Amino acid sequence: MSDFVETSCACGAVRVKISGEPRTTMLCACKDCQKASGTGHSALALFSDDTTQISGETKSYCVTADSGATVERNFCPTCGTPIFGTTSRVPAHKLLPVSMLGEVASAYRPRSLIFARSHLVWDHIDPDLPQFEKYKES
Ligand SMILES: [Zn+2]
Ligand SMILES: [Zn+2]
Repeated sequence: MSDFVETSCACGAVRVKISGEPRTTMLCACKDCQKASGTGHSALALFSDDTTQISGETKSYCVTADSGATVERNFCPTCGTPIFGTTSRVPAHKLLPVSMLGEVASAYRPRSLIFARSHLVWDHIDPDLPQFEKYKES
């Protein structure tokens, strides 16, 4: 990825600046991501807080994952675009959906599929991609 990306939600009210590489990338087929994405999985990149800068108002809601972790999803209150998520499992990091990676979205490569237990069979995933029933334990 390039070392500086600036992007925005669909309506332009929320802007995101990314300066740095993601720590990791993954597809997530959890039921929550299916709701948020409207399809079989979300494609995410994990950035440390010091490499991301969000400006503009976001709204959020929190869910408690099966693991007991608190997951917060932040979205644009006007257009509903998912902007970023946080999880108490990985403090000081943000999960950005690939749709918020701007011009570098085409360079995105997922490293794993997590929450494979709720993966939908019609949603084709590269069979060479490592899969984890729930989280990838690091
Ligand atoms: Zn918006
Ligand atoms: Zn998920």
